[in-house]
Amino acid sequence: MRSIQLKKKLKIFYASLIFILILVDASFVVKIDNFKSFNEINNDLKYSNSSTKNSVILLIGDGMGYEHLKLARLVEVGNNNKFSMERLPLHLNVTTFSADNLITDSAAAATAMATGNKTNNGMLSISPLSEPLETILEISQEFGKSTGIITTTAITHATPAAFITHVKSRSNTTEISRQIVENSSVSIILGGGEDHFDSVQLMNLEANGYTLIENHSKLMSTDANNLFGLFAPNHLPYEISRDPDVIPSLLEMTVKTIEILSQDPEGFFLMVEGGRIDHASHANNKTNVALETIEFHYAVDAAISYAEEHDNVLLIVTADHETGGLTILNETLNDIIPSSNRTDEQNRLLRIERINNISVSWSTGSHTNLDVPFFGYRTDFYDLINLSVIDNTEIFDIMKDFISEGTDNEPDFSRIILIGVGITGFSIGGIAIIVTIKNKKHFKKKKN
Ligand SMILES: [Zn+2]
Repeated sequence: MRSIQLKKKLKIFYASLIFILILVDASFVVKIDNFKSFNEINNDLKYSNSSTKNSVILLIGDGMGYEHLKLARLVEVGNNNKFSMERLPLHLNVTTFSADNLITDSAAAATAMATGNKTNNGMLSISPLSEPLETILEISQEFGKSTGIITTTAITHATPAAFITHVKSRSNTTEISRQIVENSSVSIILGGGEDHFDSVQLMNLEANGYTLIENHSKLMSTDANNLFGLFAPNHLPYEISRDPDVIPSLLEMTVKTIEILSQDPEGFFLMVEGGRIDHASHANNKTNVALETIEFHYAVDAAISYAEEHDNVLLIVTADHETGGLTILNETLNDIIPSSNRTDEQNRLLRIERINNISVSWSTGSHTNLDVPFFGYRTDFYDLINLSVIDNTEIFDIMKDFISEGTDNEPDFSRIILIGVGITGFSIGGIAIIVTIKNKKHFKKKKN
């Protein structure tokens, strides 16, 4: 009798085990399939090129409002065309106020984008209470990514400095250059500002592995990976007076830098600034505004081409603030626009002729509180679709999330949650079956 009862109990035990295994197996199939499709969708959106981690290219037109873009567009491609940045899938307006002023300066605006925090005008990636704020460039470095900073201003100027230094006052260029030399490990720095670095600092940079670059031909011919290029005593000359044989254009610096940084399998962060749009706007000089913005457009265009060919690149084009309160009033333009069929000199003269056929007004020689444009490529991973306005601090959030999501350095919490839910489900399912079988056995026994 005892052995028969034991066999029955064993049968029930085995039956329960098989049920549990079937349940567990089925659950695994469902859970893993769910996870696969969840991940596949994300991969399609963000990083289907698995050989390289996520990269971010942030392009900032300093002082570039909507009318600056319109002026440049009218000159370069005419009223019936758009710049490539204006065709990017996401377009939003950005608010730019700083912690202590409705009208920001470049230091506070760059801090907002670089760190996600509002600070006072004049401060570089440091809070109003003087606490240093971690920048997106530093976060990228922590994830093992290469980094680059390109500008047409001195590299100690507010926008580039906010990404690589933490300084109370933007006018303290001695401290800014000290931090650039001693603290930053940016892979590539290109711009102006020779006067802000002494020979000892330059020697230290070389000792730390940088190749120093002084002119166009050296930049174009170098095959080094760590570049420190200063091409002018302070800011680079305006496009109208730049000697192309000596000083590289913003486009050339951008292309060269992307070529180098994109070799890093861990991905990269690159900030490109069209820095002199702002200076031309302070001077209310429509010719320089148009030519500087056109040059910025070509740098953006090259970056877009790269991003379109690589699935793991987030590209954002924006401005730190508007300068000048520029308004286009009227134009008497014909259909003849600059083209590759003409020489550089013919195109240069044509641009200036077209600029002269556009009349504008300026409301100020300073910055304004006007919202600035945001054009985004591969921003579809981030929930921006129902927004029309974002704050400049949110640009940091978008970049940080993209950098974090494309890396193995952080645990994938979505996967952990799914597996956790799955295991809990198996356990509850298994217990439920055992209880059911046991109850059925009792019921049958009683009936008999
Ligand atoms: Zn300015």
